[in-house]
Amino acid sequence: MKERLTILGSTGSIGEQTLDIVRENGERFEVSALTAHRNWQRLAEQAIAFEVDTVVIGDERYYKPLSEALSRYPIKVFAGSDSIADVAGATNSDTVVNALVGYSGLMPTAKAIKAHKKIALANKETLVVGGATIIPMAIEHKSPILPIDSEHSAIFQCLMGEHAPLRRLIVTCSGGALRDLPKEALARVTAKQALQHPRWDMGAKITIDSATLVNKGFEVIEAHWLFGTPADKIDVVMHPESIIHSMVEFEDGSIKAQMGEPDMRTPISLALMYPQRAKRDVAPFDFVKNSSLTFREIDREKYPALDIAYDCLRRGGSAAATMNGANEVAVAAFLADECRYLDIVGAIEYAITNADFVEKPSLEDYVEIDRQARALAKSYLKL
Ligand code: NDP
Ligand code: MG
Repeated sequence: MKERLTILGSTGSIGEQTLDIVRENGERFEVSALTAHRNWQRLAEQAIAFEVDTVVIGDERYYKPLSEALSRYPIKVFAGSDSIADVAGATNSDTVVNALVGYSGLMPTAKAIKAHKKIALANKETLVVGGATIIPMAIEHKSPILPIDSEHSAIFQCLMGEHAPLRRLIVTCSGGALRDLPKEALARVTAKQALQHPRWDMGAKITIDSATLVNKGFEVIEAHWLFGTPADKIDVVMHPESIIHSMVEFEDGSIKAQMGEPDMRTPISLALMYPQRAKRDVAPFDFVKNSSLTFREIDREKYPALDIAYDCLRRGGSAAATMNGANEVAVAAFLADECRYLDIVGAIEYAITNADFVEKPSLEDYVEIDRQARALAKSYLKL
């Protein structure tokens, strides 16, 4: 029998590349359900092409055109964020690929775990916001979480077969679009500039998060929850070529690195096919062409978001959820030209300083923590 996939966020960058992997491995996978937020046209095309059972559109305003587009097909159509969570827990699939962006990914991950699904997780915000709740829940329900994020897939691969204690995880970082810009120029950066990522072609939110290094901070938190590694054993190093996707250093001084051309279909296919690997039509790596792999220290003044994320991880409780909610509002405002680049970190700091701190949040508590963080960021940004 084929493995049945539910792909949450199928119209996004990770969602589309997941469907590429399904296309390449049609004998192994079939798609049960797909979801999108507003792009109902693309969702309808995908649903017809992959002959799915169910589609969900997050924004209810697009239910009507979507149902009309699919009226001649035996495809069930639902709308709303609760329906996205419901489809994540529905019985007609084995594996849930969570390629949603932001906080919207948290509750669907929880529902999928409660339904004992295998989860291929791109939505790092699930763990940034709710790692303390999600990881114990996944252990209790025996629901494996396989990372899609390239750094975490790299660390996962470096740890395969290892039982020895590790000295540290070394998360690599491309430096994002503003890597070569002096700190003094950041005040005038436009969204167009910050969207020019040098190495990866990704959705808009994560591309801005890569420019501010909020993304790298979130990846430190994500690594903590996935691998149980404390903050002081997770380092970040800038590696502009993005060939080494991350490393693990062991107590004997040995270091393992996972390498390859930047292509998210590699970690996506591993998350879906582990412990096997996909056979992909990828050119052999050219070491001579890539003869120089370089590393730089991160300028912590230019990129304050990295240390803010470390602080949130060390504080625990609701701190990182607050950082995430404020960041989502500020990034959306920056993309809409409603605030400046430096206001993103300003809004995060303001929200963290003024939010209530919840020591041991339950899944339900995150709703209010996220709402408060968004309200604080909006008031800081005068939106
Ligand atoms: P995109 O913005 O490209 O896609 C997001 C997807 O989620 C789309 O299908 C979108 O639908 C849907 N969506 C957006 N907002 C909502 C919402 N409020 N409710 C329900 N669905 C929603 O994002 P990416 O694919 O770039 O990123 C997805 C996740 O993967 C993020 O957590 C990101 O950090 C992580 N990731 C991404 C990488 C990449 O290379 N892109 C690399 C590593 C991690 P619609 O199209 O209709 O708007
Ligand atoms: Mg990453």
